[in-house]
Amino acid sequence: MDIYLDANATTPVLPAARAAALTVMAEEFGNPSSIHSTGLRARAVVDAVRASARRVLGAPNGQLLFVSGATEGIQTAVLSALTAMRERGAGPGPAPDLLLYGATEHKAVPEALRHWNTLLGLDLRVEAIPVDSEGRHDLGWLREHAARAGLVCTMAANNETGVVSDLDGIAAALSDSHALWLVDGVQALGKLPLKLAERRIDYAPFSGHKLYAPKGIGLLYVREGAPFTPLLAGGGQEGALRSGTENMSGIAALGAVLAALESGDSFRDAATLVAWREQLAAALTESFPGLVFNARPELCLPTTLNFAVPGLSSKLLLDLFDAAGMRVSGGSACSAARALPSHVLEAMGLPAWQCASAVRLSFGPAVDEAFIAEACRRILACGAALRASCLAEPARSTPADGPTDGLTRFVVDGACCYLLADAASRRCVIVDPLPELIGRLRQLLDCQGYTLAAVLDTHSHGDHESSATALRNEGDVDELGWPTGAGSIDLGRRRLTRLAVPGHTADSMAYLLHDRGELSAVFVGDTVMPGALGRSDFAQSAPLAYPDSLRRLEAAVGGNTLLLPGHDYDDLHATTLAREREAQPLLASALTASLDDAGFVAAKAELERGLATTVYQTVACGARVDGGCAAAAPQLDGDGFQAMRAAHPELLLVDVREPYEQCLGGAAAPAATQHEAAPLSRLAEALPRWLAEPERPVVFYCRSGNRSAQAARALRRLGHPQAWSLAGGLALWADASGGEPMETPEPALAI
Ligand code: PLP
Repeated sequence: MDIYLDANATTPVLPAARAAALTVMAEEFGNPSSIHSTGLRARAVVDAVRASARRVLGAPNGQLLFVSGATEGIQTAVLSALTAMRERGAGPGPAPDLLLYGATEHKAVPEALRHWNTLLGLDLRVEAIPVDSEGRHDLGWLREHAARAGLVCTMAANNETGVVSDLDGIAAALSDSHALWLVDGVQALGKLPLKLAERRIDYAPFSGHKLYAPKGIGLLYVREGAPFTPLLAGGGQEGALRSGTENMSGIAALGAVLAALESGDSFRDAATLVAWREQLAAALTESFPGLVFNARPELCLPTTLNFAVPGLSSKLLLDLFDAAGMRVSGGSACSAARALPSHVLEAMGLPAWQCASAVRLSFGPAVDEAFIAEACRRILACGAALRASCLAEPARSTPADGPTDGLTRFVVDGACCYLLADAASRRCVIVDPLPELIGRLRQLLDCQGYTLAAVLDTHSHGDHESSATALRNEGDVDELGWPTGAGSIDLGRRRLTRLAVPGHTADSMAYLLHDRGELSAVFVGDTVMPGALGRSDFAQSAPLAYPDSLRRLEAAVGGNTLLLPGHDYDDLHATTLAREREAQPLLASALTASLDDAGFVAAKAELERGLATTVYQTVACGARVDGGCAAAAPQLDGDGFQAMRAAHPELLLVDVREPYEQCLGGAAAPAATQHEAAPLSRLAEALPRWLAEPERPVVFYCRSGNRSAQAARALRRLGHPQAWSLAGGLALWADASGGEPMETPEPALAI
């Protein structure tokens, strides 16, 4: 069973609403503008639903229009207000020059303000009303600016945090102002008494799908006498205020929801919802030590919790919850490259880590006690899974899946840190530690009983501080952490040696990893990255030494040894000199000495001139050449997967989800398919094995298809022609397997 905890995004449709919509589609299907009996019956439905909405919203007067949703309602309100301002022209007194909106408003509001301001040629200043650290509007600021404002937009409750606005305080701040007032009521519908007519609110938009009605139906309240300009002109429906044949099934469904609100038999009261939120909050606090709530629950809707956990990204938590069958949402918008910090939390002035790693959990008022109990049980299971993976305290001496053995990679904004662990000797080495990872690495080592043999840097980092000293034990080591006088560092069957590769910096070092005496991989820092050479225009660089370093590296490791880079902006995980020779003409010219060293330096300087910052807004550590870009690996849909499996019984299916996800939602492969787990963080460990069998198809899957696409792309770029990704991941598995459901057992709940 799915535990859907993303009600602020949307809700399922209430059974009564579904039934009402079906009736209207099948039986009462008339057009309410028709004057025959079928039409009249449809009109009666529209009238009854509007009357119910008036009662629920406390809006006996004014207009209450059916619209497609809040976004349309917002456009209509903004267009109306701004048109009136334009028509007012040089009226009495100074003309307003400000359009104000709450700094935590949904994007629909500021975007609509800017859009119509430009389109109508008003050229007013669009300005955000600041909020305090609790997310409430700065009423003093508003009072100061109110006289100059033509339109003020404030939400009734915030969609990310659930913070409820002080509407009476805002009304008081506007008491001496002629500004029109828009209140976005989307998240308040059915949860707060808005009493629209009792307040001087001019416009209030709503979306049905936030409260168990279908998508595509909403309401716009317009105070009696408030300016109005139709957004849609046409057949004159809705008293010519909003043309277009009415969305009858949506209206009927919304009517059923409003009727349920009025009767009080489907939705829980506020006290019950508060008690349930407290249960969820308690389960979260117990499961995730250090968790902080980003808004004080007492100031919020009783159905919303927004939190962050130190050291755990929102992506990690989302994946974890998803594996446990719980759908929550990141409190921040995600772009392809990275999760953008939440503008709402930033406006509240919360620390950057909280803004970037927020998670929102929201439920609807129609859930029941069993649902909340199950949600709590799964939250506790998530905490247990993290502890079993040594990602959360308290440490356990025996992790569920044994101590980590081999290579694990951690990435922060494109910078890579590696943990090389030898389970037999319980000794490990960390390469290029990052400040953001100290807590997590300590926790991991402590939990698994590892001793640090060394903490190494591949060079003195120009873009970030090394955290080596914070992790390192007392000992006699050089600047980069290498034990003084040692020829190698031994970790059971594994051994590290080093090779000086000055260039990116004068002190750059490559660490060669030997496994049972065989060279298996090289930590190359920024000397060679996928599609780039480390930049050598830093004060501490040694550009003239670069070409010779590359030649000595090739002589020592050859063309096909896996190189593990210090930065990986494109999620390619690893590369080889042979691959980079093809991708980077400059590197090829150094290896073949077709350019002399001075020519190499000049060509490299040209490449690095005006190097832009990375997608993470960090200093780029090298100039990426286009040849380094990897084409997306092909995806397999259901039919493609079945065909591939039939043609290749030896096909290998690889789960790239992390161990804490795998132990919650253990996914069994379809019969007769060989299956292995290779978390993305440990991909480098498995790449050579797959590369050794280039004819054998490898099909990666994950939760949503993103990480598997990354793995397949990385393997293809290294020359494996048969790397694939399962489109849509586990979320679409039933389709991909041709109706053969992947067994996703209920989460392991033994905690
Ligand atoms: N306002 C708020 C507060 C919202 O939460 C949303 C939706 O997330 C909207 C406006 C826009 O609503 P819709 O996309 O249904 O038009």
